[in-house]
Amino acid sequence: VWVRVKGVCKQNGLLILSVLAVVIGCLLGFFLRSKNLSEQEVKYFQFPGELLMRMLKMLILPLVVSSLMSGLAALDAKCSSRLGLITVSYYLWTTFLAVVVGIVMVLIIHPGGMAQKEDSEDSGKPIMSSADALLDLIRNMFPANLVQATFQQYRTNSVPIMKTPKTTVATSLTETTTRRALIYGIQDDNGTDIQNFQLDLTPPPDVVMRTLPGTSEGMNVLGIVIFSATMGENAGYFVNILTPRLLCRYFPFGIVFLVAGKILEMSDPSAMGKKLGFYAITVVMGLILHGLFILPSMYFFITKKSPIVYIRGILQALLISLATSSSSATLPITFKCLLENNHIDRRIIRFVLPVGATINMDGTALYEAVAAIFIAQVNNYELDFGQIITISITATAASIGAAGIPQAGLVTMVIVLTSVGLPTDDITLIIAVDWALDRFRTMVNVMGDALATGIMAHICRKDFIKEGDGVPLICETK
Ligand code: ASP
Repeated sequence: VWVRVKGVCKQNGLLILSVLAVVIGCLLGFFLRSKNLSEQEVKYFQFPGELLMRMLKMLILPLVVSSLMSGLAALDAKCSSRLGLITVSYYLWTTFLAVVVGIVMVLIIHPGGMAQKEDSEDSGKPIMSSADALLDLIRNMFPANLVQATFQQYRTNSVPIMKTPKTTVATSLTETTTRRALIYGIQDDNGTDIQNFQLDLTPPPDVVMRTLPGTSEGMNVLGIVIFSATMGENAGYFVNILTPRLLCRYFPFGIVFLVAGKILEMSDPSAMGKKLGFYAITVVMGLILHGLFILPSMYFFITKKSPIVYIRGILQALLISLATSSSSATLPITFKCLLENNHIDRRIIRFVLPVGATINMDGTALYEAVAAIFIAQVNNYELDFGQIITISITATAASIGAAGIPQAGLVTMVIVLTSVGLPTDDITLIIAVDWALDRFRTMVNVMGDALATGIMAHICRKDFIKEGDGVPLICETK
């Protein structure tokens, strides 16, 4: 028995350590809460967790750029457009399903009915019309300055952002990077030049990155500009010294502080009251239904394989998403889990996963729909059928526009609320529980991307010649 236990521990060492880290983080957080630490002390305490987040975020950019570019370059034009079409359609479909689940749950449970709005002070008119909000979403898809946009970080403090609509929606590091990488990848679609420009998190989890080789002209100019601009002087340092190996060793430690630090920061749960409790239960039930039943069932019906085995393979990524509240920061770990545990073809992962991290956020969409209807219920605002349809469409759009960072969904909710004339200031009603709900919806976001990658690998298995890694993915019919 001991030998077996040892074997299991060795195989799942990092996973077990991560679970332990979350548990220890919770215990430590609650213990230290009773000690009434000062704000400054809490900040110092949170520092190791902050470092973990920074390490994970550091990996996003090279991972997205290189995996999408090399992924797309490895597909010929016909394949990439087919895979792209199926992937995007599937993502849209599951997001819409998530919204429907959320709407049905919130209409049945009616959490807003249990609530009385605390301050009768009218929260005022929407600060941004729905047309403005949607235009902003589209506007941000075409950044005027390419390099600046790639660097542009989302401010996570949502309240001031909500007050300045022009800077709100849809631009994030991952998103702009994904778009740029897609464009460059497609540009070089007919060549195989950039295939050895890649970053892999293969076992052993080392970063293998070679600089851009001689590529086609457009690629050269734009690619090198963007590559050097984004990686800059940190590239060598980051790639060679701060490899994922170090990250893997550090992250159980980082998670303890990340989780405990958040618990120290949270507001008193007893102050949340009944109304938020029911709202939170509605969101969580919707997320469970979508994440644990609907998505795995789709995986099962399409692939005829066990979703339980598949989900076991990505447990570590799910844990990290719970700890970080960021699907983008979890991306390197999801990549690694799919490759090492679920043995998905890396050429598919490289394309499907970063696109999913950018546009596919089922958990966020579900939450946005529930939150908007909850706010309507709290305000005794009767929504008609047309408005519910509007909410479902804008919640889908808002989740696509949300960045994979903590509480981004809270920001893009402005779009949903304004589309049906609800007061955007009422977002403050749900802020108290958002830090917790964010973790669960991020898990569903990551789960959605990971399951989709498995499904795409299954759907496309016949289209492509099965070759060893590094061989271009070519349509059999070609
Ligand atoms: N935190 C979520 C994510 O990273 C986005 C959100 O819903 O706020 O996927």
